[in-house]
This record gives sequence, structure tokens and C-alpha cells, in this order.
Amino acid sequence: MTEPVRTTVESPDGPLAPALEIARDAYARANRESRRHFDSACAHMPGGNTRTTLFHSPFPLRIVRGHDSRLWDADGHEYVDFLGDFTAGLFGHTNPAIAAAVRSAMADGISLSGHNLLEARLAARICHRFPSIDSVRFTNSGTEANLLAITAAIAKTGRRTILVFDGAYHGSLASFSGSSAPTNVPHEWVVGTYNDLDGTNALFDTCASSLAAVLVEPMLGSGGCIPADPEFLQLLRRRTQESGSLLIFDEVMTSRLGYGGYQGLSGIEPDLTTLGKYIGGGLSFGAFGGRSEIMSLFDPRQPRSLAHAGTFNNNVLTMSAGLAALDELTPEAAAELSARGDRLRAELNRLFEESGVPMVFTGLGSLMTVHFTELEVRCGADVRAADQRMKELFFFDMLAAGIYLARRGMIALSLTIGAAECRLLVEAVASFIEHRRALLSGMAPG
Ligand code: PLP
Repeated sequence: MTEPVRTTVESPDGPLAPALEIARDAYARANRESRRHFDSACAHMPGGNTRTTLFHSPFPLRIVRGHDSRLWDADGHEYVDFLGDFTAGLFGHTNPAIAAAVRSAMADGISLSGHNLLEARLAARICHRFPSIDSVRFTNSGTEANLLAITAAIAKTGRRTILVFDGAYHGSLASFSGSSAPTNVPHEWVVGTYNDLDGTNALFDTCASSLAAVLVEPMLGSGGCIPADPEFLQLLRRRTQESGSLLIFDEVMTSRLGYGGYQGLSGIEPDLTTLGKYIGGGLSFGAFGGRSEIMSLFDPRQPRSLAHAGTFNNNVLTMSAGLAALDELTPEAAAELSARGDRLRAELNRLFEESGVPMVFTGLGSLMTVHFTELEVRCGADVRAADQRMKELFFFDMLAAGIYLARRGMIALSLTIGAAECRLLVEAVASFIEHRRALLSGMAPG
């Protein structure tokens, strides 16, 4: 583990900028090998990067190995992995059943040039779990799954407008933080405010007749782990039904919250669902599925069916790993993981309250994000208004304490994170509060 970052805080107002400089500097000094690999990667990759989410200044760590809940970086530091690959790493880094499934698929050969015996089994398993999914198609990522679900909605309704919400992340081509990202596909997006019942009603009033679909995460995941109010999702369900548009639940992250995903827990059934992340057991995966009469648009036996090719859509490694993965996430395992996350978040929030610091972990079950604010966090604008520099300091202090989490403060528990690991996190956070109390009290409200 790296040496803890030590900073002298001189004034109760908190010299945050110098503290951050010291933390960044300590990080750079402790991670010289990661820096060396980063510099050499920059020669052939823009910013040494092929996955923007992973980038942070001064440079991200190079991870060289993982085992169960642990990670090791190029400088030999060991971390408890609380990030779980942004939810894709639900089974830890070396799940034996998944490894065996991949080996077994390899033994029968890869790139088989045709349908295989695994894809329909995985499809059946998914339809069985998720109440609203009658049939399903596979993609290589959650991004693709969302794009295909939108295509299906446009084809089904003959309309073009897609309602999404500020703070939502539906993949690298459909991202909405403050505005529609320049990399987004050029759909007719309308961006509403998450959890805003009146504003959403008003949007339906103006664009219902052109609306093809509402695409919504039941909890803003990348956008700060902000759960939707059930009334907000119920409103979306009702108004899409009334307006003849489709409700698409992006359950790429939230499907882990229960055996049948968020929809199974809430009883709110979308028309289409998109999936990704952990379901491939840690391999590239995406899927979209829903009611038969919508999904049959892709039935190649039908005249004028929608084409959806994809060389790796049914690749045997993912199909086999996915079957093993879903076997692992039994109803009991899913419920236990969510309960562990709920307990952990409650304990951390109790700690913040008792310590009187303006911090909060929002989220559901095993998914959570820290925010530095004393105000309620209910939508994308609330997340952006919280103190981002304290979050950066928190990130460096957690790394120095051997806790690996996202730079944006996100945690996604894997099944390999147990009570002992949770204790380590709570202790590290308590120590952060103790060392940074002056800075925390000097934070501007909001
Ligand atoms: N939808 C949600 C809710 C996500 O969190 C993500 C990824 O973080 C995606 C879609 C995109 O998935 P992928 O990274 O597999 O393209």
C-alpha cells in the first residue's frame, strides 16, 4: 500500500488547493511505474487512453493483476477493489466458475462462424429472470444495446423524439451531463430533469405526439447513483402508455439490484430493457429485450425486418461466461449483496451525520457514490453543484489507504467484498474525516 498522504491544514477555511497539490504530488511520487507506462502509452494512444472514464489527472494507475477482491498496480501497491469495474466486475477478478466456463468454451473452439448452442440458453435464462423480457438480442456493449433499443422504438412508433434525463449515461454515444455530449448520435433528444414530476409532465404535454420513447435509468448510475423516486418512474410508465410511446429501462447497472433487476423489485415493467456489464461475467456484453411484438421487428423471417448484425454478438466466450455468471447471481446472492450495500451506505452516512461533515453516499444496494454537500442530491444539477475538489482529495486519500474506487466517487460492491473489506472502507473514510476535518468544515455550502 502507498504511504498515507499527510497534509498540514493551516486555517479553518481550509487551503484546499494546496492540499490537493500535495495529494497529487504524493500520488505521482508513489506511482512512478504507472507514470512510466502512462508516458509510453501516450506515444500511441491519445492521452494514453482508450476508455475515457478511466482517465484522471495527473495520470491513472496501471493495474497489472487482480485476485478476488484485490488489485495490484504497476508499483506493487495492493488495493481492495471497491469499484468492481464500474459494475461489470460483480464476481470479482478470479471467479472459478466463470474461469471454467471460459476454458470450456475455448476447448470447443472460438469464432465458430455460425449459431452455437450457448446463445439460446443465455437468452432463455435472461427472459426467465426479467419479467418484461419476452425475447432478447445480444450486443457487445451497453451502448450498443441502448442504440438498438432506440432504433426499435423509432421503428415501432414511426416517431423520432427520445426523452432522456440530465445526468444520464446511456453509453459513450448517448451521454447527458448538463448537455447532450458532442459524441452523441444525432437523435432528436429532449433532455428532462430527473425526478422532476411537473417538468416531466410539461415535456409530455408538448412532445407526446412525436415521442418514440423515454430512455431512463431507474437510478442515475454514472451520473452519481441517484435513485429515481418510484412516483417518477410510475409517471413515465403512465404517460408513455397514454402517448403510445415506449418506456425503455436502461438496467445496464441496476439489473444487479435483484434477481429480476430493478423492475423485478419495483413491479414497474418497461416495454424494453437494456442490459450489460456483469451479465457477461466480466467479458464484453450487452443485450436489449422486451415485449415480443416489439422484438419481432428483428425477426429475420419477417419481410422488412430490422437488420442487427454484429460479428461478436453471440461469441462463445461471453455466452459461456454469461451462463456461469447468471448461475452465480442467485436470488439469494442478489438480495444479500444489495443488503450488504444498504448496510454499508447506512453506516457511512451515519458516520457523516455523527461527525457533522457535509458528505453523503447516495445509491441503491451495492451501488453508491459520495457527494460533498449538505444539500439533497436528486438530479444531475445537484451532483454538479456539490464540491468536486473535495471529491478529488477523497479519491487520492482513499487510494493512499489502499481503497480503489472511481475518481468520481463511485463504489460498486462485488460478491467478493465481505464484512472485513467493508470495515476497511469505513475505517479509511473515518480517517479521512479526521485528517480533513478543517477542509470539510471550510467547504462552501452546496
Ligand atoms: N448504460 C448505463 C446505465 C451505463 O452505466 C453504461 C456504462 O457505464 C452504459 C449504458 C454503456 O455500457 P458500455 O460501457 O458497455 O457501452
